[in-house]
Amino acid sequence: MFQPKSATGIMQGVKQFGPSVGGKKMMTWEFTHAAEAAETGIYLVWRSLKTGEDCFRVGHFSRCFCGHYGKDHDRKVNKKKQSTKCAKCSCKELHFIPRRPEECGLYHLPRRKGFNINKWRPNCKCGHNHEEHDPNYFSCNCGCYRFEGDFWCIGCEGGFDDHETLLQTESERMAEDRPIQAEFLPMADNVELQHETLKSLEVSEEVKKLAGFTDLTEEEKFIEEEFKEKMNSEGQLIKLTDDMASMDINLAVGGQKSYTRDYVSKPEKSVKYMQKKGLIKK
Ligand SMILES: [Zn+2]
Ligand SMILES: [Zn+2]
Ligand SMILES: [Zn+2]
Ligand SMILES: [Zn+2]
Ligand SMILES: [Zn+2]
Repeated sequence: MFQPKSATGIMQGVKQFGPSVGGKKMMTWEFTHAAEAAETGIYLVWRSLKTGEDCFRVGHFSRCFCGHYGKDHDRKVNKKKQSTKCAKCSCKELHFIPRRPEECGLYHLPRRKGFNINKWRPNCKCGHNHEEHDPNYFSCNCGCYRFEGDFWCIGCEGGFDDHETLLQTESERMAEDRPIQAEFLPMADNVELQHETLKSLEVSEEVKKLAGFTDLTEEEKFIEEEFKEKMNSEGQLIKLTDDMASMDINLAVGGQKSYTRDYVSKPEKSVKYMQKKGLIKK
């Protein structure tokens, strides 16, 4: 998945993606798609056939081969079949395709003069981009019969054909011993750096909650902790006062011995009934 494994790798990633707009976008999508999956229980990934690893988390912001976004596609799982068809065109199945050059390791591209991210699309070796190919047959009008991407995945270094877009339920992932829920988030194996990264991203509250991340600074956290402690000790004080008050009442009631005894020896009908039925203790 798009997450360098070693700590230094992650640090480099954070440093690298910190100032880069494209890197931030990619990470935002990865986090958002992970939270989507955790919430719906439907996990969409771009899995490498070369390594078996999941290279990208697919979801709302991903682009499909047909040119439409993940959000335009079904994400239905029935007992027998699943559907990821597109609501905006004839595309029958969502096929992830990189949306940003950074996803194919082309970090230099966005810095080029005249580069337009809204127009950029990964190309086929035939010279046409994926939107110029048939979304279901992957063929092109130029005679090219199958899209062959001229790019490489940063996750596995494989090509377009070395991957499959896969939809799995949470239990299917568990059966394969693959990460789910918070573990499915990027950098789940290094929460400190994960939170460091989240600081620089604009992600939803759902993502932050799943990651156990708060926007509070160390000082704000300290103040909140202090406040909680204070509330706790005040709560105990209130409880103590309550206990003392009830002690007073007990003493007062204890003084009226006849009343208490009468009450115990002559319970009212309903109480007797309940005692008989064993509903209350004698
Ligand atoms: Zn599609
Ligand atoms: Zn479409
Ligand atoms: Zn072509
Ligand atoms: Zn082609
Ligand atoms: Zn890959």
